[in-house]
Amino acid sequence: MTSYLIKGAAILGGEPTDLLIEDGRVVLDPSAVERSRDRGDVEVVDASGLIALPGLVDLHTHLREPGREDAETVLTGTQAAAMGGFTAVHAMANTEPVADTAGVVEQVWRLGREGGYCDVYPVGAVTVGLAGERLAELGAMADSAARVRVFSDDGHCVNDAVLMRRALEYVKAFDGVVAQHAQEPRLTENAQMNEGELSGRLGLAGWPAVAEEAVIARDCLLAAHVGSRLHVCHVSTAGSVEIIRQAKASGWNVTAEVCPHHLLLTDELAATYDPIYKVNPPLRTAADTEALRAALADGTIDIVATDHAPHPLEDKDCEWAAAAFGMLGLETALSVVQETMVDPGLLTWAEVAERMSYAPARIGRVADHGQQLEDGGPANVVLYDPSVRRVVDAGESVSLSRNTPYAGMELPGRVVATFLRGKPTVLDGKLA
Ligand SMILES: [Zn+2]
Repeated sequence: MTSYLIKGAAILGGEPTDLLIEDGRVVLDPSAVERSRDRGDVEVVDASGLIALPGLVDLHTHLREPGREDAETVLTGTQAAAMGGFTAVHAMANTEPVADTAGVVEQVWRLGREGGYCDVYPVGAVTVGLAGERLAELGAMADSAARVRVFSDDGHCVNDAVLMRRALEYVKAFDGVVAQHAQEPRLTENAQMNEGELSGRLGLAGWPAVAEEAVIARDCLLAAHVGSRLHVCHVSTAGSVEIIRQAKASGWNVTAEVCPHHLLLTDELAATYDPIYKVNPPLRTAADTEALRAALADGTIDIVATDHAPHPLEDKDCEWAAAAFGMLGLETALSVVQETMVDPGLLTWAEVAERMSYAPARIGRVADHGQQLEDGGPANVVLYDPSVRRVVDAGESVSLSRNTPYAGMELPGRVVATFLRGKPTVLDGKLA
C-alpha cells in the first residue's frame, strides 16, 4: 500500500502541518514524518492552502440499490460520497425490496465493502415493508454482519404512536436509535410545497410546518417516556428547532439533523415550477433557514445529513405535481456548509468536523469513523480547498442521476482528496 506525505495541510483549519498517511493510519510524529521525506516509496501531496478534515459521515443517504439501479447503485452512490469527502454513509431502507431483514441489510453492507469507495452502514426499516403496521426484525438486523444501529422508515413517518413506542423500547437492547421522518400524514395529503401565502398563489397543495412539529413533539415525549434514543431526520422549520431545544434542555436523548438544501434554499424557488426544487420535507421560508443555521451553530441541531436522493430524469422532467421528491446532496454538502455556515462566521472548521464527522458517527454508533486526526488514528481524511469558487455543473456529477438543485449556482470550495483507511478514493479532485 502506497504511503502519502501530505505537505502543509491545515488540520481543522489550524497551522499548516505535514502528515504522513501510512498503513491505514495517520502519522504526525515529527521524526517519522521527517524520515519519510527521503524515502522513495512515499508519494508527496502538496496540500498548501488545503484544510484537512476527518472523513465525513452521512447519516442519511439514499443509494437506491437494490431495486432502482437506474437512479443510483451502491457503487455510484459511494463514488459520489467519496467526491464529497465522505468515508461513511448510512443507506436508507426504502429500497426494493425494503431493507427490513438481515438478508437485505447484509447485501447492501457487502456491496459497499466490495466497491471500496466509502463504507456503507445500512439503516434498517422500523416496520415491515415501511407499511407502518408491524415491527420489522430489528434484532436480527442488529445481530447481522451489517450490525445495524439506525432504524428508519424514512420516506414514510412511523405515525402509529404504539409502534413508535415499541420501536424505541426495542432498540434500547442494542443501543440503537430510531430516526424519524416526521410528517403527519393526514395534514400532508398530496402536499407539494411549504404551506404559506406562496403555495396559495401557485396553486400547489401546502405541507404545513405543524405536520412536522406535531410528530417531533410527540416523539420527543415518547423517547423521554421510555428512556430511549430518538433522532429527528431533516428538520426544516423554526418551530421544530424550538421543540428540540426544549427536549435537550430537559435532558432527553434527542438528536437532530439538517440538510444542506434547507440551509441554503427557500420555498421561493417553487415559483419556477421546476421540480428540481421539489423535496420532502419541502424548502421552507427564509426565516426557517435562518433558524436552522442558528440551531446548527449553537448545537441544537447536532449534524448535517445530506438526504442524497437520486432520481432518473423521467421522474423529475415532468410537471411539479407528478415529479418525485428529492435532490442530490453528497457532492455539494461541504460547499453548501461553507457557504451558509463557515463563510458567514457561524461555524469554525473544527465545528464542521464535529457536525459532519464525529457527531454523525456517534449517533450511528460507528466506531471506525468520526475519529480525530491524531497520531496513530485511522486515516480517514479529506483535503479540501476552501479558496476556490466553482459553478456547479450537473453533468460533472459521478452520481447516476442529475437532479442537483445547485446546477448553475456558484459555490465555494472543492474536495481535492479523500482517503479511506489510508487508500485514496479521490485524488486531484478525481475518483482514484
Ligand atoms: Zn425523509
